[in-house]
Amino acid sequence: MADILNETRLKDYYKHFYPYKSVLKWLSYNNPEYLRNREFAFILENDVHLRYLNFGDASDQFHKELVKVAPQKIDLGAVYNHCPKTRHQHKDFKAVERELVFDIDLTDYDEIRNCCSGASVCQKCWRWMAIAVRCLDKLLEDHFGFQHRMWVFSGRRGIHCWVADAEARALDNQGRSAVAEYLSLIAGTKKVNLKTPTIHPMLVDAYEAVMTSEDITPLVLEQGWLDEEESWMKVLEGVEDRAFRDQLISQFHDLASADLRWKLLKRQFDETERKSLASSRSGNLPKPPPANSKYFLMAFILQNAYPRLDVNVSTGTNHLLKSPFCVHPKTGNVAVPLKANEVGNVKLDQLPTIGGLIDELSVLLSKDAADSTEKENDSPGRKLYYKHTSLAPYVETFDAFIDGAVRG
Ligand SMILES: [Zn+2]
Repeated sequence: MADILNETRLKDYYKHFYPYKSVLKWLSYNNPEYLRNREFAFILENDVHLRYLNFGDASDQFHKELVKVAPQKIDLGAVYNHCPKTRHQHKDFKAVERELVFDIDLTDYDEIRNCCSGASVCQKCWRWMAIAVRCLDKLLEDHFGFQHRMWVFSGRRGIHCWVADAEARALDNQGRSAVAEYLSLIAGTKKVNLKTPTIHPMLVDAYEAVMTSEDITPLVLEQGWLDEEESWMKVLEGVEDRAFRDQLISQFHDLASADLRWKLLKRQFDETERKSLASSRSGNLPKPPPANSKYFLMAFILQNAYPRLDVNVSTGTNHLLKSPFCVHPKTGNVAVPLKANEVGNVKLDQLPTIGGLIDELSVLLSKDAADSTEKENDSPGRKLYYKHTSLAPYVETFDAFIDGAVRG
């Protein structure tokens, strides 16, 4: 694994794959001065940080520098009130704008994640990411009106979100904290508590987004929460009403599988499920739960499936975040933008890696070399090889986001 990011490979990657023109187009938002005041940071081997870089709108210079320096990572920072390179000349130098960003990482799910832990990730735990994107994407749109949202695979076990609306970029630290706090239900010891008589509409919407996700039933079953008596007894502890809980315990004992227990919970507690059962008149509709246990399933689902945000990433205007299309040093995976509604279909072992892309490139290059010996006087000029590789659809997703974001 040590040579995933060797210099030659990285140089080839920056030369042929990293979409530097798109990145600068995005970060300018049609305003060259905005781009001139943006911080870029290159992170080199041994964690050396070259901060406060800026390339103006000279995409060729940005590209040349990338190929020359071959940074392990590119971070994107804030837009300042002056060009970052001249920060020493300005006493009032400060961050004024940046995209609103979110970071969701599977390590924050370790206390409930039964398939993997730490740095490991598999398709089973990726379901949390699919649910997180579905849920946050909806809340960011419906509760804040944000239109320009990009979701980017972090390269290993998480997802970053960039919100690029002008209103989001202009938020100060307090505003960012307020949004992050609103969207964060579970952090540290903060737990979902639905023992209040009224439920905030945000929780209702979040619950509905999770429950209508194709990933929620597989998640519940694959994580084994309802498999063994020992685990489902813990789940049912959340049912406030003692007699009602005992009734569920006895029903759970009689049911032969986790799937049947999950179906019982939905029939018993999920309003949508109950409405559809009532209208189908199948006679299968149990009596509603007692008032003090009404929100048991909602609390369980939100506690175990609601996105867990790393709030610190969101709250600071000047926080650095990895650029899309960087290569993860441990996995070799490219941090590719993903369409919000396709995160659930992602196959982690099929996402682009630097090794795979360089292999695709050498096939293209040798084909071109063969072709040009055949037609000697043909000089095709600079060719965009990435367009013929498996990276192409991800650059298209990126460009579609940029087109919307720069139009505003
Ligand atoms: Zn897993």
